[in-house]
Parts: sequence; C-alpha cells; structure tokens
Amino acid sequence: MKARFQGRVAVVTGVSRGLGLGLLREFQAAGLHVAGCARSTPAWAENEENSSVFFRAVDVRDAAALAEFAAAVRQRWGGIDLWVNNAGVLEPIGMGRDLDPAAFAAHIAINVDGVWNGCRAFLQGAHIQGRGGTLVNISSGAAHSAYRGWAAYCAGKAAVDQLSRVLALEEAEYGIRVFALAPGIIETDMQRVIRKQSATDFPDVEKFRRLHEEGLLGGPTEPAAAILRLAFGPPLDPARVVLDLRDSVELRES
Ligand code: NAP
Repeated sequence: MKARFQGRVAVVTGVSRGLGLGLLREFQAAGLHVAGCARSTPAWAENEENSSVFFRAVDVRDAAALAEFAAAVRQRWGGIDLWVNNAGVLEPIGMGRDLDPAAFAAHIAINVDGVWNGCRAFLQGAHIQGRGGTLVNISSGAAHSAYRGWAAYCAGKAAVDQLSRVLALEEAEYGIRVFALAPGIIETDMQRVIRKQSATDFPDVEKFRRLHEEGLLGGPTEPAAAILRLAFGPPLDPARVVLDLRDSVELRES
C-alpha cells in the first residue's frame, strides 16, 4: 500500500486528537506527506516535525491563516492532492429555545464557516496547480437525522452536505472530486462529551451510552482507507457526493 501513495500530499484540519489524528497517522503510514492544523499544539507535534508530517497551529475560523497554511504546504511539497475538513465541535447542546445566540453563532463559525474556509484554501490553490485533487468534508448522520438538543450541530452538518453538493457540481469539470463523508460513530473526546450529557439537554444520551457499552464504536483510524479510496481510487458515480461510511459496503471494504 505504501508505494501506491508515496509522495502524495494530504492536509487534515483538526489533528490535535480524535478522528483527525487517526487520519493523519493512517495517511502517514500509507506513505503520504501529511500536514495538519488545530487551535492547540498537541504534545505529539512539539516532538515531531519530520519530512513527512507538518503541523501548524491554525484556527479554521481564520480564513487568511488557513490560506497561508495551504500555501506553505504547497511550497513544501509541491502541491496538495487531498484536503480533509475534519475540524469540528459539538457544543452548544441543549433545547434550541434555550441556546445562547452567541454560542450558536460560534458553533456555525467553526463547523460551517471553518469548513468553507478550508474548501476555499484548497480549491483556489488546486485551480492554480491544475492537476485536480480531492476535497472531503467530514459530515455526520446528524446532517439528516434530527436529535433533540443538537440544533446547532444538526444544522451545521446539513449545511456542510449541501455546500459539498454545490462544490462537487462546480468542480467536476476541473477533475476535482468533492465529498461529504459521515464517518460513523467513532470513539473520541466528542463521544465522551456526548455520554456525559444530562437527559434534559440531550434526551437521546442513553442510546450513545449503550452503543459504547456494547463496543459498537469505530476507532479513529478506520475511515482513512475509505478516504484514500475516494481520493485515489476509480471515480464514483458523480451523483454520489454525500456518503455515509456505515451504509457503503464498497467504501468500508476499501
Ligand atoms: P474531537 O475529538 O473533539 O476533535 C476535534 C478536533 O477538531 C480537535 O483536533 C480540535 O483541536 C479541532 N478543532 C476544533 N475546533 C477547531 C478550530 N476552530 N480550528 C482548528 N481546529 C479545531 O472530535 P472528533 O470526534 O475527532 O470529530 C472530528 C470530526 O468528525 C468533526 O467534524 C465531527 O463533527 C465529526 N464526526 C465525529 C463523529 C464521532 O462519533 N466522533 C461522528 C460523526 C462526525 P483544537 O481543540 O486543538 O482546536
């Protein structure tokens, strides 16, 4: 597998922990050069700046900083083949009527504007590069299943799905693949936060506690193979833009 991806370049946002860190490690193991960002600098990044991994502290809300980060990656490795907008937050959690408008706006600034900033940073450079590429926006089943207490999260992920559909249409003729991928339920800090919620703020909390007790959560490295398949495998039917890893045997078996 390593030789197949040797020299390819991927960027993943939100790599300080969780799914983003899992993707970074799997891509690295597959032979890609990988650049990642997050707001905080994790301990692993302080000790690891080598020829195949590059970390920079960038907040995805800062469009200019994200564009500079993309330019630095291109300068270092000559281009970007795959960009994954993974950075995201879950809070605020609670009934929609009670949510603080500032907290709602802060959520959308990361989960929607931050994804949009990443899309632009990748696509503008990809058009200059002129050799195609793949953009994967990490979505969620919450984009189409409504959960009480998750008004901000569900609305934001639905926006990511539609944004991805529009960009997929716009970019197809330039050889740029665009997807929104729901990764399944993955054991990360985000799931640990979900399980700690009160049933008042999040009435479905028991379902998530049960899934965890039954060992039904995926690991943070698991979606990596499907993303590499989307980027470097044979093209999918162009109508398939919004994908759920749990429903797609073809992707799970990548
Ligand atoms: P997590 O463990 O909380 O990690 C989130 C990552 O995003 C962290 O590295 C965090 O780093 C980064 N981040 C958050 N805000 C950021 C910002 N403004 N700028 C840059 N980086 C930022 O969550 P996760 O479970 O791995 O989630 C990753 C993605 O998968 C999210 O988009 C989430 O919605 C999606 N997802 C997760 C699940 C699941 O079951 N875990 C299911 C469906 C979808 P800093 O805090 O250091 O910035």
